[in-house]
Amino acid sequence: MPVSYSQASDWIRAFAATVAENKVYLTELDSAIGDADHGINMNRGMQAVVAKMDGISGPDIGALLKTVGMTLVSTVGGAGGPLYGTLFLQMGTSAAGKSELSPEDWAAALAAGVAGVQSRGKAELNDKTMIDALAPAVAALQAALADGSTFDDALRRSAEAAEGGMKATIPLVARKGRASYLGERSAGHQDPGATSSWLLVLGAAEAFTGQQTGN
Ligand code: ADP
Ligand code: MG
Repeated sequence: MPVSYSQASDWIRAFAATVAENKVYLTELDSAIGDADHGINMNRGMQAVVAKMDGISGPDIGALLKTVGMTLVSTVGGAGGPLYGTLFLQMGTSAAGKSELSPEDWAAALAAGVAGVQSRGKAELNDKTMIDALAPAVAALQAALADGSTFDDALRRSAEAAEGGMKATIPLVARKGRASYLGERSAGHQDPGATSSWLLVLGAAEAFTGQQTGN
């Protein structure tokens, strides 16, 4: 089953709700290796997105995602806002004019979004950033589709890969962003951006399969 406009919009709203629920948690993670604002930043941005979404309707999923990206860029300061803004803007460009996304369209959009984050933030895998959750999610999605998995299975594998990547940030020493100023002292803490990115990918699996994935 392709992703419909209403599923895409459910995904964005569910992400906003999850970020609100996890605002304190994300901010606590950022207090260990950053400046204690990641949950606050993301929540401010996603609440602005939800307010904006009340005024727009389908059928163009690309336009929806671009609106999300532009809203995040204009309402969130710091590193996270512009990077998430870029993610959604590039996803929106990839999905432009589409009123539904095939599994391949979804994989292409997510890959384009992640490539945008990498070109803007210059982070590689294992730099202890959101890329550590996002890049494995894209790779798992592409691998699952290539080996003939159902879309539901591909979405679940992508969420599991994001979770694994998020947990793998714990021992890493940060090489990008504010946490990198701490050097070796950044090790032993889970990256806040990788955590919000896992929530984003998990939310897609839930919104597009219509099932809880057990997390
Ligand atoms: P700030 O660091 O400006 O306070 P946030 O706290 O909102 O912004 O976001 C911090 C998160 O941003 C980090 O946990 C990390 O995942 C992500 N991040 C920081 N710099 C980069 C980068 N260059 N590339 C990818 N992600 C990054
Ligand atoms: Mg911060």
